[in-house]
Amino acid sequence: MLIDTHCHLSYPELHRQLGDVLARAQQAGVARLITVATSPQDARLAVDIARAHPQISFAAGVHPHEAAKVGDEDLQALADLHRGRWRLGTLEERLAAVGETGLDFHYDFAPRQRQEHVFRFQLALAVETGRPVIIHAREAELRVCDILDEHPALAGRVVFHCFSKGPDVARRILDAGNWLSFTGVLTFRNAAEVQASARMAPADRIMIETDAPYLSPEPLRKVRPCEPAFVAHTARFLAALRGEPPETLAARTTQNAVRFFSLGSHAA
Ligand SMILES: [Zn+2]
Repeated sequence: MLIDTHCHLSYPELHRQLGDVLARAQQAGVARLITVATSPQDARLAVDIARAHPQISFAAGVHPHEAAKVGDEDLQALADLHRGRWRLGTLEERLAAVGETGLDFHYDFAPRQRQEHVFRFQLALAVETGRPVIIHAREAELRVCDILDEHPALAGRVVFHCFSKGPDVARRILDAGNWLSFTGVLTFRNAAEVQASARMAPADRIMIETDAPYLSPEPLRKVRPCEPAFVAHTARFLAALRGEPPETLAARTTQNAVRFFSLGSHAA
């Protein structure tokens, strides 16, 4: 059994064929999924998706790409969701994390100061609600680490999603008690740096994900869109890289995800 800890089932490429996508995930042994909302509007879709499918949990945040587009009322809507004011009933147990949130200095779609403001707002929300945090960091990993250091309450409760950097950055994150999650990027031919990180990371601090509809792993790299079933390829690759039996790696990363996201027993 595997868990795809980060996918975007609300995005049109997957949403319009969700039934088939979920059937293929199940066939591939992906028993649970976390769909990640990147704006409050997207969170409404995620709520509907989770409501219809007991194996799906969700996370809600404002992606750094969206930081200039969201206004204060959007941040308030996100805060309301995390404070239980969307009247989700038992579905609230499946609100697994704040995020994805962070900084993206590669695309710089929003001014950096605005990105930081929106990021810090969400970190405060995570501290307040006790939920873990899913980080998106691109060309901004060390700045994110610096800001996280100002939030000791979050130590051990933060995962760097789609981690793609080498052992130096990995070490900094792990030393702070935090987690690494690997996508199909790990399987790419030019991924020696992140592969070195994946080899050295402790077994109890790693997770796997697709980031679907993006980043199909090898040998399906050219297949679009990526979908949660493909996480099985990343799992196999990671097991081989670490010299572990695939079943061991699958069981371990699944246990890790259940622990990190406090996934309940609502799904089979
Ligand atoms: Zn994502």
